[in-house]
Amino acid sequence: MKYPGSSNISAGADSKLLADLRQAVPAGRISTEPEDLDRYVADTYWKALAARAAGAPLGRPDVVVRPQSDEEVAAVVRLANHHQVPVVPWGGGSGTQGASIPTRGGIVVDLTGMDRIVEVDERSMTVTAEAGVNGKRLESELNQKGLMLPHYPASAEFATVGGYVAARGSGVLSTRYGKIEDLVVSLRLVMPTGEIVDTLPVPRHAVGPDIAPLFIGSEGSLGVITRVRLQIAPLPAARHFEVVSFPTVADGIEAVRKSLQSGLRPSVVRLYDEVATRITLSPVVGSQLPGVATVICFEGDAGVVAAERASMLRHVRAHKGEVLDGSLGEVWWNHRYDFYSPPHAPELPAVWGTIDVVATYDRLLPTYHALQEAVAKPYAARGLKLRSHLSHWWAQAAVAPEPLVSVGGHDLRALRPARRRARRGHAARPHLEGRRDCRARRRCGHQRPSRCGPQTRALYAGAARRGP
Ligand SMILES: Cc1cc2nc3c(=O)[nH]c(=O)nc-3n(C[C@H](O)[C@H](O)[C@H](O)COP(=O)(O)OP(=O)(O)OC[C@H]3O[C@@H](n4cnc5c(N)ncnc54)[C@H](O)[C@@H]3O)c2cc1C
Repeated sequence: MKYPGSSNISAGADSKLLADLRQAVPAGRISTEPEDLDRYVADTYWKALAARAAGAPLGRPDVVVRPQSDEEVAAVVRLANHHQVPVVPWGGGSGTQGASIPTRGGIVVDLTGMDRIVEVDERSMTVTAEAGVNGKRLESELNQKGLMLPHYPASAEFATVGGYVAARGSGVLSTRYGKIEDLVVSLRLVMPTGEIVDTLPVPRHAVGPDIAPLFIGSEGSLGVITRVRLQIAPLPAARHFEVVSFPTVADGIEAVRKSLQSGLRPSVVRLYDEVATRITLSPVVGSQLPGVATVICFEGDAGVVAAERASMLRHVRAHKGEVLDGSLGEVWWNHRYDFYSPPHAPELPAVWGTIDVVATYDRLLPTYHALQEAVAKPYAARGLKLRSHLSHWWAQAAVAPEPLVSVGGHDLRALRPARRRARRGHAARPHLEGRRDCRARRRCGHQRPSRCGPQTRALYAGAARRGP
């Protein structure tokens, strides 16, 4: 099948590229087989899933290459540059924004064949891994040594470490350990011209600019990350959870702000607004929680945990917070991936996405309210629910990922005015983000979700024909 947007390199003059690729990379690592190419038409972006289900994907590669070394990646990029063909790096395919979809065809470089954990340096507390190493596998190997990569995204089971960096990810422990950009020590990069570059192998520099930050969050647009060196940490001696409830989001924000600005570093702070407490958190922990429920975790040395806990709970009480049953925090921890599977996560034919909003404290509450005005209210009648939680905190600012859920297969175009308003109104990074059905992927034994049954295809045929 020839999809729109495909450059169809296998025809005519472009067969020279294929011949050159076959010279550069062993034949078994290059494929133009339709069933292979079809595996790269959608990541977990809702619109890509819907388009694929309708039989009209947003893009499809012309060739997929699965390199196993830096040199092979470099050779592929050099040839793509020479032949002026697009290259799209592909990690775990768990991205939520459609960034890995080859909308102009060309070459997908699937990095999952580069899956060596190169070195665990327990003295410097770093791990060096090839870009295609799966997040869950890395975590399990580190855990066996009493260590952890303190980046715990909900997609660890599917994502790669290269994808963590390329997508500038955040994990649930970010309030203590930082986001992925705080954990990167150095990168090995294949530049668009095919040169292999190692950034300096130290976490901070004394002089001059650093190119590594350019590649963090570059989503494959500036080159290919083939190796990462990341900071690791010892598994904490103790991890203690509390669940508290505030009368309002404003009270909760103030309690957390004061705690962080006084120097406390809880690892988890997840503040769910009233709607999210009711329809997101409560069903997963199996208890109907009141108000604005917030899960907090303290970790590390037992003495530090006890002191931080006591101090933060003072701030909580000072802002009208009620301390609930802390064991529900452990239930949350043990079920934290359930949020992303049915029945808690949406699936086709629903429409869903998230908007990640970052704001400094002076604008945080107005931004939260503005989002309610711009997104929740206008579409409430269509069944859209805005489930907001604040989950990554600094002394200066916080991030609120706001999952949207619209049940019933609405046309995504209905959301566009709200997206534009959100962009204009806030210094934020709004995007639509799909959450995929993890169990479905496991059932299919497929790298990416496969929701393309005849019924779904029929539902989406109209929408997909209208184009992206
Ligand atoms: C259920 C679920 C839960 C999620 N939870 C979180 C979460 O808690 N936190 C979070 O941050 N994200 C989350 N995500 C989003 C996603 O998993 C992350 O963005 C993840 O880091 C992507 O990694 P990947 O290997 O799957 O990358 P892909 O989806 O394969 O690619 C993502 C982007 O990075 C580029 N890329 C991939 N590898 C490389 C490379 N080696 N070099 C250069 N560019 C590359 C791709 O071209 C694409 O632009 C979630 C997704 C799902 C489906």
